Amino acid sequence: MTGTPLSRRTVVRGAILLGVGAATGGLSLARGNPALAAPTDVTTFAVDPPTIASCATWGARTPGSLSVISSNPDKILIHHTAGANSTDYSQAHAYALARSIQNSHMDGNGWSDSGQHFTISRGGYIMEGRHHSLSRLQAGSGMVVGAHCPGQNDKAIGIENEGTYTSATPPAALYDRLVQLCAYICDQYGIAPTRIYGHRDYYATACPGNVLYGMLPQLRADVADALDGGSTPPAFSTIIDNATPGRFTASENWLTSSYSSERYGADYRYANPAAVSDVAYFKADIPAEGNYRIDAWYPGIAGYNTATPYLILAKSGMQTVVVDQSTGGGTWRSLGTFTLTAGDKNVVGVSRWSGASGYVIADAIRITRV
Ligand SMILES: [Zn+2]
Repeated sequence: MTGTPLSRRTVVRGAILLGVGAATGGLSLARGNPALAAPTDVTTFAVDPPTIASCATWGARTPGSLSVISSNPDKILIHHTAGANSTDYSQAHAYALARSIQNSHMDGNGWSDSGQHFTISRGGYIMEGRHHSLSRLQAGSGMVVGAHCPGQNDKAIGIENEGTYTSATPPAALYDRLVQLCAYICDQYGIAPTRIYGHRDYYATACPGNVLYGMLPQLRADVADALDGGSTPPAFSTIIDNATPGRFTASENWLTSSYSSERYGADYRYANPAAVSDVAYFKADIPAEGNYRIDAWYPGIAGYNTATPYLILAKSGMQTVVVDQSTGGGTWRSLGTFTLTAGDKNVVGVSRWSGASGYVIADAIRITRV
């Protein structure tokens, strides 16, 4: 069920202090993997985050060993607990349910923690299941490996819905929160609502019951509606390449190469890492203050820098996102979503101040209003 090794990922959302590179992790769970350092930027959502009670809030036990991986889930699996259809819709009951599931999974099944990532009570309380599920969701990057469906535990977010839905219909309070939670998960991880499945789609089980399973097409449609429901800001997207006239500046220490076929455009710029202030800047004309997703393109080659600091000049101040440029190149990689102020200015920089060895690369940036 568990045991997927911690894998390195090329691009992650997160922020660490400039220059510390691979030497420091921000969280104990991120030890040795700066990619998982705590995000500090103001990340915004098209979908309002629902209230989710953390493990600490509902009184979880200390878990055993858990595996947090930096890859994102690609689907959601819907479960029912196959327990009683309680008519106690209180918060106290919901929290007791979460504790009961954890006890059963740890003591009965011998697992290290609750198997599922999230739990929803029949009264409509959403709770974190396995530790780290909530923090990773909020970051929109990485996940804790679950124990809710063999073969899917490192790919799917598992949601347990209180009750048995072989013939009964879930209460509206539960269903409404399920829509909200799924929409938030889809938004945070970039999962299409069409990728919401039932447990039985991936394992020989009756879960989540014929009735709830039969509601999945409606759930997908309702989640899609929720994702479309926000106000749509004016579309804005721009790509700045290192060769875009007047939009890229770098010192002569940044040399030009066309070596890797994964480059964006004709060439890219590269420099040796050094503890100097010598930033290559991408300039953009931001039309209005708002939220923008920023993607980076670089050629990923073994030997390039594993901890290249990208600097984002966000409204809240300079944010640093560290990217492993030794792999995963040749495509757009999200650096996250940031609040930017209006104006024609340097928005993204690539710093040479990396603790890791290998060339740092400045190739192309894409900024999209969200
Ligand atoms: Zn299930």
